[in-house]
Amino acid sequence: MMRQYLGIKAEHPNCLLLYRMGDFYELFFDDAKRAAELLDITLTQRGQSAGQPIPMCGVPYHAVDNYLARLVRMGIRVAICEQVGDPETSKGPVERRVQRIVSAGTLVEESLLAESGDSILAAVTERSGRYGLAVVNLARASAEVVEADAQSELIGHLKRMEPSEILVNQESVLLALRAENLSAALEFSAETTHRHTTAGERLCEALGVATLDGFGVDASSPIIEALDLGLSYSRRAHARKVQIDSFRTIDTAGFVQLDAGAQRNLEIDVRIDGSDNHTLLALWDTTRTAMGRRLLRRWLIQPLRSQADARDRQAAVSALIHADPEPLRKLLRQCGDVERITSRITLGSASPRDLSKLGETLALLPDIKTLLSRMDPPLITTLLHALPECHHEAQLLSRAIVSGPPAVIRDGGVIAPGFDAELDRLRSIDQDAGAWLDALEKREKERTGLATLKVGYNRVHGYYIELGRSGATPPLDYMRRQTLKNAERYITPELKSFEDQALTATARALQKEKHLYAELVESLADAHLRFRQVADTLSAIDVLACFAERATALDLVEPNYSPIPGVRIEGGWHPVVASRLKTPFVRNDIDLDASRRMLVITGPNMGGKSTYMRQTALIVILAWAGSRVPATAAVIGPVDRIFTRIGAGDDLAEGRSTFMVEMIETATILNNATEHSLVLLDEIGRGTSTYDGLSIAWGTARHLAERVRALTLFATHYFELTSMAAEVEGVVNAHLTATEHRGDIILLHSVAPGPASQSYGIQVARLAGVPALVVRKAREYLDRLERTATKPAAPQGDLFATPHVQDPPAVPAEHLAILDELNAVNPDNLSPREALAFVYRLRTLLSTDRDTPLE
Ligand code: ADP
Repeated sequence: MMRQYLGIKAEHPNCLLLYRMGDFYELFFDDAKRAAELLDITLTQRGQSAGQPIPMCGVPYHAVDNYLARLVRMGIRVAICEQVGDPETSKGPVERRVQRIVSAGTLVEESLLAESGDSILAAVTERSGRYGLAVVNLARASAEVVEADAQSELIGHLKRMEPSEILVNQESVLLALRAENLSAALEFSAETTHRHTTAGERLCEALGVATLDGFGVDASSPIIEALDLGLSYSRRAHARKVQIDSFRTIDTAGFVQLDAGAQRNLEIDVRIDGSDNHTLLALWDTTRTAMGRRLLRRWLIQPLRSQADARDRQAAVSALIHADPEPLRKLLRQCGDVERITSRITLGSASPRDLSKLGETLALLPDIKTLLSRMDPPLITTLLHALPECHHEAQLLSRAIVSGPPAVIRDGGVIAPGFDAELDRLRSIDQDAGAWLDALEKREKERTGLATLKVGYNRVHGYYIELGRSGATPPLDYMRRQTLKNAERYITPELKSFEDQALTATARALQKEKHLYAELVESLADAHLRFRQVADTLSAIDVLACFAERATALDLVEPNYSPIPGVRIEGGWHPVVASRLKTPFVRNDIDLDASRRMLVITGPNMGGKSTYMRQTALIVILAWAGSRVPATAAVIGPVDRIFTRIGAGDDLAEGRSTFMVEMIETATILNNATEHSLVLLDEIGRGTSTYDGLSIAWGTARHLAERVRALTLFATHYFELTSMAAEVEGVVNAHLTATEHRGDIILLHSVAPGPASQSYGIQVARLAGVPALVVRKAREYLDRLERTATKPAAPQGDLFATPHVQDPPAVPAEHLAILDELNAVNPDNLSPREALAFVYRLRTLLSTDRDTPLE
C-alpha cells in the first residue's frame, strides 16, 4: 500500500495528497505534518519506513468538504485520491486514483464556492516579450483571453480581474508577479512549454472546433498557449474533460475601467479594510438568485460604455418599476443557481438536490415568460426570446427525481417511482415480499389442497414451503430443502427465483438507481448550452428587477446620458453613508464639464470632502451600470476609466512606505488618465513633509488640469492650491461649509462655491478627542496669530517659481516666538492625535504667512 501511496504522491509533489482508506482520507509523511498543523488535527503514526515510524493524520470522508474549504482558502492545492477498484475482488491494495485536484481557481463544488464569489483561474504565458493571459471560470464555463505587450499591462489586467489562482509558465514572470502582492495563489506550470506546437490543436479539441480562425486570434499569439495551459490544468484538476463552450477576448474598451484599488477605495464590493458589509454592492443587492448576485457585482465593477446599452437597461428597469417587479422576483426567489448546477452537470458532479432544483427552476420558466411578455422594452423582449423553453427537461426531471431528495446518490432514494420499470420492480421485490409470499401460500394451498401448508423464511436455509408430516405427497416440483421433526420443508423453482431476486434486490436496486442517475446527468449534459442560456437570462432579469426594486425603495432617479464629457448632478447623495446616518444626509450638486474640469475641494476635516467625491463616482458607476441613481437629477457623460487616490485611513504615522504607495498610484493616474477619465484625488501629498507634499500636490493638480484635462475632484488641505482657480482655465474651487457656534465647529456638509474661508482644524481636533489642554493651547496660539498676522494676499503666479517673492515682508517678532516654540516640539514624542493638532497649527501659520521659514 505504501508503494502505491508513494507512486501517486510522486505524481503530485505540489499538492497535499488525501489518500482514501475506508471511511477516512489519510495523509502521510510531510503532508501529514503540514496538514496537522494547518488544520489543527492530531498527528499519529503508522507502520515504519526506513526504520522510522510514518507520520500520519486523517479526516473522516463525510467531513472532508469543510477541511478542503479551509485549505483552499489558504491557497493550498489538495489532490484527492479515491478507491476506484472493488475491495472484494482486488488482490493487494485496492486500485486508487486521484480524481480531483482541488485548488482556488478550479472550484465548481457548491460546498467549496462562496455563493457570491467566483473561482477564477488565470494562466499566463510569455513568448518573446509578449504575454498571453487566459482567464477561465469553470463554474460559468467561460474563458476570456487577452494579449499584453508589457508586463505592466499584464499586471493591470490581473489586478482588475482578481483571479483566485494564477498559473505562470516562466520563472521570471512568476517572480515579477510575486512582487506585486496579488491576492491569488501563484503556481508555476510549464506544462505547455515543451509541446507548444500542439497547443492550438489541443485547444481545437477542447472546444470541439476544427480551427481557431473563427475566434479572431492569431495562431502565433501566446494567448493560445495560455488558454491551453489553463484548460489542461482544469482538466487535470477534475480528471476529466472540462466544458468550455467558447472564449472571447477581454474587451477593455467596452467597459468603464475600475481597477481593484478603485473598487476598494469606492467601497463597491469590498471596503478598504477588506470587509464586505456596508459596500455599494451590499446596499444594492436585493437580487433573488445567487447567480443574479454575482452578475450584479460584475455589472457594478464593469459599468458599460455604450450609451445605447445603458439606455436599454434603464428602459427595462423603468418597465419593471411600472409593471411592479415583485411577482417576477417571487418566482426568481424559487430559482436555483442554474449557472453552477450546469457546470456540475457537465463535470459529472451534480448532486440530487442540484437536479431537483434545476427541475423546479425549469418548471417556473413558462410563468416567468408570461410576466416578461407583458413588457415591451427591447432588452426585456430580447431576454424573453433568449430564455429557452426546456419543457422536456423540466418534465424529465420532475418525473425522475423524488421531491426533497437526499444530498447524495450514495444511498439511493433519489429516482422517483414510476420513472423506470426495472427499478420499480427491484424495489417492489423488497417492499412487496410479504404480500407476494402470502399470495404464494394461498395459491399453493389451493393447488395442493393442504390447509396446513406454510410459506416461511429461515436465515440459514432461505425461503421454504413447509408441509406437516401428514403423509401428504408434495407436488412434483417441490424439492426437499430441510427435514424437521414434524415437518418437511420444500422449495420450488418459482420460490427459488423469488429468493434470488429478493436477496439481491436491494443491492441491485441501488446499482440500478446509480446507473439511471448517471444516465440522467449525462443526458442533461447534452442540454448544457440551453441551461447556460437560462442561467444568463435569469441572472440579467434578476439584476434588472433588483434595480427596479432599489429605485423605488431608495427613491432613485433615472439618469440622462450625454455624449459630451461631464457630470451634472443635482441633489446627489452617497447611498451607503446616507443609509448609515442617523441624521439626514445633506444632498449636494456637482457640475463638471470641459470648462469646469477640476474641482479643488477644501473644507474642514470630517466636513464631507471624501464623501462628496465618492458619491460622484458612485453615481457615475451606477448610471453606466444601468441602475437609477441617488440624486434628484443627473446627466452623465462618457467615462473611460475611474481613478482614485484616496489616503488609506489617514495613516500619517506610517511614513515613507505609504508615501511610496501614494506616489506609485499618483504616477499611474498621471500616465494613464485621459480627457474622458474621472479622477478622484484625496489629500495627495500628505504622506510627506509639508513643502514636499504641497509641491507634489501642486504639480499633480496642474498636470491633470492643463495636460491631461481629465474630470478631476481634488480634495486638499493645502489651502495654497485654491489659487489655481485664478490661474488655470477649467479649475474651480468648492468647499464644504461649516460654521462656528460658541467655539464649537458645526459641520454643515453642504458644498458651496469658492475656497473654504477658515480652517477649523482646532475645533475638529477637539471633536476628535484631543485633550482639552492641548486644544486650549492651540487656540491661544491661533488667537495670538490672528491678532498679529496680516491676512495674506491670494498667491499669484507659479508658487514655486524662484525667487518666489522679491521682497519678503518683515516677520513680526511675536510670530517668530511662536515658531520657535513650535520648532521646539519633538514630533517623535507626539501621539498621532497631538500630531494632528500640531499639523493644524502649522497649517494655520502657513496659510497666514507663507514666507516664514518653517522647517
Ligand atoms: P472629509 O473627507 O472632509 O474628512 P468625510 O467625507 O470623510 O470628510 O466625511 C466625514 C463624515 O461626515 C462622514 O462619515 C459622514 O458621517 C459625515 N458626512 C459627510 N458628508 C455628509 C453629508 N453630505 N451629509 C451628512 N453627513 C455627511
